[in-house]
Parts: sequence; C-alpha cells; structure tokens
Amino acid sequence: MSALPTILTRSCPCEENFFIEPLEDPFAFMSESEGAQRQRRIAGQPMFVLSEDTERTSGRDAQSANIQAGKAVAESVRTTLGPNGMDKMLVSDSGDVVVTNDGATVLEEMDIEHPAAEMLVDVAESQDEEVGDGTTTAAALAGELLSETEELLENDVHPTTIVEGYLTAREVALETVEELTLEGEVDNEILQQVAETAMTGKGTGGVTPSTLADAVVEAVRHVDGDGDLDRDAIEVVARAGRSSAATEVIEGVIADADYVGRERPAPVSDAAVAILDADLDLAETEVDAEYQIGNVDQLNAAVESEREQYRDMAESVVDADADVLVTTGEVADTTAGILAREGVVVFEDVSSSTARTIARATGAGLLGTVDGLESDDLGAAETVRVESYDDDDLAFFEGGAAADTVTLFLRGGTEGVLDELERAVTDGVDAAVAALNTGGVVPGAAAVEIAVAGAIREAAAGVEGREQLAVEAFADAVDAIPRTLATTAGEDPIDALADLRAANGDGRAGLVSTGGEVEVADPVDHGVLDPAEVKREVFRNATEASTLITRIDDVISAN
Ligand code: ADP
Ligand code: MG
Repeated sequence: MSALPTILTRSCPCEENFFIEPLEDPFAFMSESEGAQRQRRIAGQPMFVLSEDTERTSGRDAQSANIQAGKAVAESVRTTLGPNGMDKMLVSDSGDVVVTNDGATVLEEMDIEHPAAEMLVDVAESQDEEVGDGTTTAAALAGELLSETEELLENDVHPTTIVEGYLTAREVALETVEELTLEGEVDNEILQQVAETAMTGKGTGGVTPSTLADAVVEAVRHVDGDGDLDRDAIEVVARAGRSSAATEVIEGVIADADYVGRERPAPVSDAAVAILDADLDLAETEVDAEYQIGNVDQLNAAVESEREQYRDMAESVVDADADVLVTTGEVADTTAGILAREGVVVFEDVSSSTARTIARATGAGLLGTVDGLESDDLGAAETVRVESYDDDDLAFFEGGAAADTVTLFLRGGTEGVLDELERAVTDGVDAAVAALNTGGVVPGAAAVEIAVAGAIREAAAGVEGREQLAVEAFADAVDAIPRTLATTAGEDPIDALADLRAANGDGRAGLVSTGGEVEVADPVDHGVLDPAEVKREVFRNATEASTLITRIDDVISAN
C-alpha cells in the first residue's frame, strides 16, 4: 500500500475529492502497467484502489467535458451584462420565481451539479465576496477563456503553455487597469457615478438609479471615518408597502424583531439597550426529575422558588437600568410581565445576526447570560420605535451611541421588485465602498476591456513560442465584454469592436448607453465609472478559474 500516497499527492481545493491531479505516472496503479501488475499481486490477491462504481475520464475527454460545463454556466449569465442586459427568470422546485439581472444571483439560484461548472460559480461567488460587483463580467470572461482554451488545445498547445500565457496576459491586464485609474480623489460626484453605473440596467422598480445613487452616497459618507470604510456599517433593508420612491437613509439599524406583549410598544427616547444571547426562562432539564411533595408548604416553596428565579432575571435587567431588552432567546411570561410593568420594552427571538447588528449600532455588549448584567454592558439609542410595514413589524434603533451604522431603507410594490431593488442597491453600495477603499475608479462601458485587449496583443508580440498564441487568445476572450455590451444593445458586435478600437487610443472610448441610445464615447464624460478593484478582481478570478480547469486532465468521481 505504501506506493499509493505518493501517487495521489495533490487534490484540488474543492471539498469533494473530485479531481485528482497525479504528479507521477498517473497510470501506475490504474492501468495494467508493469508496476500496477506487480502491486496487484501483492500478498497474492488483486487489489482495488477505487471502488467499482467509480467513473473516470482522462485526457482530452476530461478537458473537453470540463470546458463545456464551464462554458455553459458562463453563457447562462453573459446576456445579463451591462445596462441593456436581459433578465433571467429562475423557477425553483417548489415553484418560487426569481426574476433577476444579477449574475451572482442567477448562478446562486441554479442547481449546478457538474464539478467544473461549480468552479465557475465559485468565480462569481468570490467576486461577489471580495468586491460585490463585476460578477457577470468575471463569469463571462472565465467562460470565454475556456472557449479559447478549447481552441488552443485543438491546435496542440499544451495546457501548461496555455496557463503560462494566460498568467502573462493577466499581468498586462492588471498593469493596464493601473494605468487607466483616474487621477485625483474619489469625491462625492465620482462616488455617485460609480454607484449609479453599478445599478444601471438592474430592476429598480421605477426609481432612477441616479436617485438611489444619491442615497448611497449619503449613506457611505455618513459612515466614512478616516481611512478604511467598514462595508458592514451599511445595511440595506427593503420592505413592501409604498412605492420604491420612498427611499430613506436611516441613521441606525432596522431589525426584524418581535416585541413581547400584545400592544405595539410606544417609542422610547434616550434608550439604554441591553442585548442578550440567552433565554430568560428556566432551563428545561434533560432528565425527567420528579419531586416528592408531601405537604402544601413544600408545594408553595417549590412554586415560590421558581417565581423567584423569574423575578431575579427581570430584576437583573431592571437593576442595570435598561429601557429596552433584545434577546436571541425566549422570555418567560412571568419575567416578561414584570419587565412590562417596569416599562422595559422586550424583543425576543431575534436572530443572532440581527442581535449583533443592533449591538454594533448601539455600542451594547452581547452577553450570554442575564446574570450580572451591568449598566456598562448597555448600549444607547436616541430612539427605539416599532413600525408596521405590510404584515411585518420592524424595530428602528436610531442615533445609537456607536452610530456608525446606517441603513438604506427601500420600499417597493411587490416582493419580486423589492428583491431586485435590494440587490441593485447592494451592488451600488459595494461599488462605492470598493472605489473609496481600494483605490480609485476606471472608465466603464468596456473602455478598460478594449484597452486591456490592445495592450495584451501588443505584449504578445514579445512572447516566444506557442505561449504567444495563448496570450493572444486571452485578448480575444476579453473582447467578449465589449461584444456582449454591443449585442445586448442591439448593435453589431463586429462593427462596434472596430469603432471602439479605432477610438480607444488613450483607453477612454467605451460603448456608452444613455437613455436607450448607445454611442462610442468617453465614459468619464458620461459618468460611467467602475471601481478599479472590481476590474482587477475580474481579471484575477476569471484567470484563476479557467487555468484551474485547464490544468485538469483526469476526473475520477465516486458515484
Ligand atoms: P457585472 O455583474 O459584471 O457588474 P453588470 O450587468 O452590472 O455586470 O454590468 C457591468 C458593466 O456595465 C460594466 O462594464 C459597466 O461599465 C457597464 N455599464 C454600466 N452602465 C453603463 C452605461 N450607462 N453605458 C455603458 N456601459 C455601462
Ligand atoms: Mg454590476
């Protein structure tokens, strides 16, 4: 058995061990090579390395299957790209319908099984996590790179050479993004434009992206301390009800929180807020205990002792001088009754993340038990109020002591509109934060992609051997972004590409879309700007996924 570990030496970073990349003779134990035959006869009996129903494809078949799967996924989101991108309707098993223009959401909602296709979904996911925007671009580029890989493999370019060529091209792409980053600081006007660009083309339920972008800038500036802006300090909450024109920036947080009691509590001003991650109830014992009670005194004592415990819990809260109690657990009726009499507003069964958000906004500590609660542990809010929207109650914690959290509160007609509005505004916030935090903006509308493709082609001339083909192929893949912007706008992609290249000497010509019209123009003049970091991540993530898939020549899957 000792030979095995050296053969199965490197597996892919995915959790399931789907891909095994052999470092030594891959067929040493799989086929009837001499070594294998010798091994099989160890101890005089046949030895099975893989179970019987294991499937294995290798060489070109494996590459081709992976590439097709990856391309199919990329293709499914490509047409959502840009201001004129189409929407996708996704229907779940249970009949739930999601209509979206957001690439990340499409990929997230699709039920994808093929492991290589999964890797493309991962591209969109990491793009989403790292910068929040550019997911469609990243997935589309990864798909195009795979198409190019397929062609290169057909022309006998070795996978290793392809990978090297792609990495060379990626460096050129990153340098070009650097060069195209606009000089000067990211002021409010630029922030507004970045947010608007990120939201253009998404369903915003009738509100113009420009109005929403104003709200995004207000929110971002509210939490913008010196230096690093904390993305988590900006929440986006959407609720059905009024038209989505009612967009507010709330200085504080809005929480889905159930109050205890029948009547909606009156607003509390200058509220001291206690937050617990605990039940205010007597713990249920795991074992069934039975008390032997012999007389009425003993019964009274038992009841009294329970009541005392309920009272103690309430007293801890009252003694700490809390006006509002928020807990992730449940509050016993007796305790709740006492707290109500003392004028403490109680929210129970709050989710942990909501509790953390409120803790953050009010500066309260998040305690695991009510015992020993002290006034030091409490947070503060100027007002705490409960409002009803549709059938939901929402708790507003505004003007908190640690009021570095702000909430964009959006309202729209129907659930479908709301979800898409929330996604759009989240993209707008992400883009604005990325522009502020990670240095600068670049012209949008595919101006960067045209310039990047040009620079890569120029660099390719200096690359020797077949790697040159791979570098050039990368440039062709990047062209897919302007081509797609042209196609979705109803333009001829070949003409558009030619016009763009001719005009793009300084990297400032893009396919700008203004009110239904598209023209080749300077995106900066039209306020079409993307965060530089979004573009950097696009090139990083797409290259990573495509090279990962290109390197695989063997798929061994357990059924
Ligand atoms: P992604 O998921 O990649 O962010 P989007 O659908 O948000 O995909 O499209 C982003 C692209 O659309 C960016 O390249 C951006 O520059 C471009 N874009 C946004 N607004 C405009 C516009 N008004 N004219 C042309 N291109 C635009
Ligand atoms: Mg976007």
